[in-house]
Amino acid sequence: MTDLVREYADVRGGEIRFGVRDVRLHGAGSGRPSVSYVCPDTGERRVVTADFVAGCDGARGVTRASLPPERVRLARHDYGVGWLALPAQAPPSSDCVVFGMHPRGFAGHMARSPEVTRYYVQCRPGDDPANWPHERVWAELRERLGAAGAPPLKEGRLIEKRVLDMHSYVVEPMSFGRLFLAGDAAHLTAPIAAKGLNLALHDAFLLGDGLVAS
Ligand SMILES: Cc1cc2nc3c(=O)[nH]c(=O)nc-3n(C[C@H](O)[C@H](O)[C@H](O)COP(=O)(O)OP(=O)(O)OC[C@H]3O[C@@H](n4cnc5c(N)ncnc54)[C@H](O)[C@@H]3O)c2cc1C
Repeated sequence: MTDLVREYADVRGGEIRFGVRDVRLHGAGSGRPSVSYVCPDTGERRVVTADFVAGCDGARGVTRASLPPERVRLARHDYGVGWLALPAQAPPSSDCVVFGMHPRGFAGHMARSPEVTRYYVQCRPGDDPANWPHERVWAELRERLGAAGAPPLKEGRLIEKRVLDMHSYVVEPMSFGRLFLAGDAAHLTAPIAAKGLNLALHDAFLLGDGLVAS
C-alpha cells in the first residue's frame, strides 16, 4: 500500500482524499456518475464527478450497497464455522504453510515476516475473541498443530484477535451502468483459499485495461 500510494501521489501527482466520511454514490446508472463525501477538515460535503466509478471499497464498502437489488444477484455460501484470526509477534515455526486437521478443529500457521506469523484457530461462528485469552490460544495451537518430530511452536504476543464467520459470495453482474466493482466489493472468498488479494488485483488489471481501451 505504501509503495502504491507513494507512486500514485508523490511520483505521478495523483490525488487521494484520506479520512473522508459518509461516502455516497450518485447516478451510477447515468452517463455522469459522482461520489460525494464529507471532508474531514471542514465538515463540508464535497462532490467528485466522473466518467466511471471503480468500486474497490472492500466487503463493507458503499458501492455494492448502491447497486439496485433488482438488477443484481448475490450468491452467498456460509461454511458454518468461524476462524479466530491471529497475527502473532513471533517468528515462524516453519518455512511452510502448516494446516492442522484435528478432531478439535482446524488450525493454520502462515509465515508472514521474520518477526510476525499468522495463525488461525477454528471456532464457533460469532464467537467472542474475549473467550480466547493468550493461554487458551497457544494451548489449542500446540494441540492442533502438534505433529510427531515437529519442533515446538515459537510463541509470542498476539497482536490482534478477530473472529471471521467463514463465508463466500459473488455479485452478478459486477457492474451497473458506469459503476464497476472490483475485489472484495464484488466477490469474497473465505481466507482458507488465500487468494482474495490475487483476485482483487486481477480485477483491477482487467478493469484498468478496459477503461483505457474504452
Ligand atoms: C484475516 C484475513 C486474512 C486474509 N489472508 C489472505 C491471504 O493470505 N491471501 C490473499 O490473497 N488474501 C487474503 N485475504 C483477503 C484479502 O485481504 C482481500 O481479498 C483483499 O484485501 C481485497 O482487496 P480489496 O482492495 O478488494 O479490498 P480491501 O483490501 O478491503 O480494501 C478496501 C479499502 O477501501 C476502503 N474503504 C471502504 N469503504 C470506504 C469508504 N466509504 N470511504 C473510503 N474508503 C473506504 C477500506 O478502508 C479499505 O482500505 C485475507 C482476508 C482476511 C480478512
